[in-house]
Amino acid sequence: MATVQTVNGPIDAQEMGMTLIHEHFFSGDEAVSAQWPHVRDHELEYSLALQAADAVSGHGVRTVVEPTAMLLGRDIEALIRLASDTGLQIVPCTGIYTYDHLPQFLLNRPAEFLAELFVHDIEEGIQGTEVRAAFIKCAADEPGVNERIEKVHRAAARASVRTGAPIMAHSRPASGTGPRQVEILLEEGVAPEKIQIAHTGDTDDLDYIERLLDRGVWIGMDRYGIDVFLPTERRNATVLALLERGYAERMFLSQDFDIPIAAGLDWYPPEMIEQMQAAGAAPNWSMTFLFEQVIPTLREGGMTDDQLDTVLVKNPPRWLGV
Ligand SMILES: [Zn+2]
Repeated sequence: MATVQTVNGPIDAQEMGMTLIHEHFFSGDEAVSAQWPHVRDHELEYSLALQAADAVSGHGVRTVVEPTAMLLGRDIEALIRLASDTGLQIVPCTGIYTYDHLPQFLLNRPAEFLAELFVHDIEEGIQGTEVRAAFIKCAADEPGVNERIEKVHRAAARASVRTGAPIMAHSRPASGTGPRQVEILLEEGVAPEKIQIAHTGDTDDLDYIERLLDRGVWIGMDRYGIDVFLPTERRNATVLALLERGYAERMFLSQDFDIPIAAGLDWYPPEMIEQMQAAGAAPNWSMTFLFEQVIPTLREGGMTDDQLDTVLVKNPPRWLGV
């Protein structure tokens, strides 16, 4: 029996039910939070996370995969509290969310050291708890797969090979990072079916996407609502084209939602968020946009019930079950 680790302990992978594969309940700059805690309002953040959790549950979601890793403010206690209060199954990760920078502590130590940290979270527990990480997060973005990013990927790969935990790799199609990320992970011996290339849905270049799929990896069509990277209509057209080509069993749908106020995703001050919204950067972004608008449109476009069930219910345990 394959199992999946949640913040409330392991479950049978088949109990995941309808799953959102990539959403953030609590994310923020952990260094700022540690040094200037007065800029955070944890109770407000918690109440917003609670609203989002209740909203997704109302659409039948039973599990949310929460890929908030180091440098994005992973907070296991907050996730445990949220899962306990709502009954939602929340799947936590280990790993490092960086596009380039690494703290000196990690910069001057080898990939093997990083791999041991990830293995610790997978086998012992996260942040002093007994909650075990279900998967490993790494990232490549605009700076490309440079030396530091390669080290994080090799560390993620080694921890995956050692434990069987799958990998979610944040990618940036506009910088063409995906193929190189896959290459490194495969070189280290990770099985392709353990690899998910997140944010592949930020492009509608089907050749680029099929080159990734040809390697046997999963793709995340997982930023629905972030129009600034690709508008919804083009995301939908891409998903429908991939379904028609028979890739339902290789993809995920999600929104990569972060609660966008000074709490939650704290990258932008409130006035900048207002400007971005006014400019149409992400007018519909929420944790329920998929259910309210995207899925109805995909159905009209020919997505079958069976395909929907494959993407939202059957695929998550196939990728995550260990
Ligand atoms: Zn994310």
